[in-house]
Amino acid sequence: MIDKILEAFIIILLATQTDTKADIDEAIAIEEETEPDLYYLGIYTCYGYCSCKKCCNKSDGITATGVKARSKHTVAVDPEIIPLGSMLVIDDKVYIAEDVGGSIKGCKLDIYFDSHDEALKFGKQDKEVFLVNKRRINYGL
Ligand SMILES: [Zn+2]
Repeated sequence: MIDKILEAFIIILLATQTDTKADIDEAIAIEEETEPDLYYLGIYTCYGYCSCKKCCNKSDGITATGVKARSKHTVAVDPEIIPLGSMLVIDDKVYIAEDVGGSIKGCKLDIYFDSHDEALKFGKQDKEVFLVNKRRINYGL
């Protein structure tokens, strides 16, 4: 009996540890491997952005979650609608809701690109957005 309680306690301890970047990458790899359970959120108006001053009013590339923005990975969301840390699928690619933006309210998304040119080239596109397993990554926010 005590063994069972201890075991449960250890599982809770492990589950509450903050995810490291490696854990997040591993989680993404697992999600990609095991046919994720996708929850359709709807059509979102998506804009390209980069870490430049024009896009962010700052240029350090640090997102609202404190991690550095990465292309093919980071999206900015309205956290009232999509919690930060959510895993999203857009055009069969997995993204993480890591950032917010002043004009990103409601059914809008910003997709991060490494350069301003790429962001401009993406421009504004309507995309179907899916949430993966309604799962959140804990950033300790
Ligand atoms: Zn830019």
